[in-house]
Amino acid sequence: MFQAIVIENDEQGYRSTLTRLDDAQLPPASVSLDVLFSGLNYKDALAIENKAPVIRQFPMVPGIDFVGRVTSSRHPRWRPGDLAILTGYGVGESRWGGLAGKASADGDWLVALPETLTPADAMAIGTAGLTAMLCLMTLEKQGVTPQQGEVLVTGASGGVGSFAVWLLAKAGYRVIASTGRPNDSEYLLNTLGASSIIPRETLNQPAKPLAKEQWVAAIDTVGSHTLSNVLAGTARYGVVAACGMAQGLDLPASVAPFILRAVTLAGVDSVMCPMHSRQQAWERLASLCDSEHLRKMTTMIPLASAISHADDLLRGQVRGRLVVDCH
Ligand code: NDP
Repeated sequence: MFQAIVIENDEQGYRSTLTRLDDAQLPPASVSLDVLFSGLNYKDALAIENKAPVIRQFPMVPGIDFVGRVTSSRHPRWRPGDLAILTGYGVGESRWGGLAGKASADGDWLVALPETLTPADAMAIGTAGLTAMLCLMTLEKQGVTPQQGEVLVTGASGGVGSFAVWLLAKAGYRVIASTGRPNDSEYLLNTLGASSIIPRETLNQPAKPLAKEQWVAAIDTVGSHTLSNVLAGTARYGVVAACGMAQGLDLPASVAPFILRAVTLAGVDSVMCPMHSRQQAWERLASLCDSEHLRKMTTMIPLASAISHADDLLRGQVRGRLVVDCH
């Protein structure tokens, strides 16, 4: 038996409960694991609180990312005792996820925990850190270097945004952080390493086709008018990596930045990202992240309080990552 958060939706209504499951109830898969830590992400909170149609089938164990120890394997790459990370692939949405003591998974989806990271470090990074790294790698693939000029990050206080600021700064970039939380300015500048702050309001209103060239590249977690303004302010031959939609799914922009300044807009998706990019991203994360800093960005909670913390997360009362101890 093991503990799990289970979401059900039947004649008794939509409900999330902490319950005990039998090992035999785990969906069949090539690898079984003891979950060590799981992340509590915004998407998990939406699922737990029924605030968006995240869950595709019921009953569902939520949890879109976790790190665990392999207990049995029919997969050639994995042996009992191996430590592995799983993010994305619809886990916690259409397949049982990580907010549980045990999980089963397709071995093709697992990434080996890099040697220099602890299991808790891996979930302090989680989907947010992985997405931020994929954005940084996207900029680099397009030829962006620290010498070219400043890089903008929108939604800088958020999960992905704060990792993006920190990773860019660690990689030697000068970072402009756009935030709607002036109280977080000191954290963004002194702890995460941003060089300057701009208020969110300067970017979230309807955009002109082109604006003054202000940054050579950007990581946008916000979408909508913000992304339009980001594109309009990007320098000639600049690159924008877009991964989020905190302001909205729309993009009310013009083609002017593309046809007059040759700006590149590159999408980033961590859910179905190819395995070689995931492995590369985790290796880069392992080389840049240190446990001490990750601990400062993390609040550790027990599985038993994950449901109550989902509400705090949706009300914007959480800064940094919530890591759930599932041992
Ligand atoms: P968070 O909620 O932690 O952060 C989003 C940030 O965006 C907020 O902290 C805030 O930052 C800013 N923001 C919120 N609302 C608005 C608004 N109305 N207008 C302008 N800015 C706003 O979310 P995450 O960092 O976890 O995720 C960010 C986005 O990325 C989400 O849309 C998420 O769905 C997406 N995502 C995509 C992934 C992918 O694979 N493509 C993976 C993970 C997440 P501030 O207060 O600093 O302005």
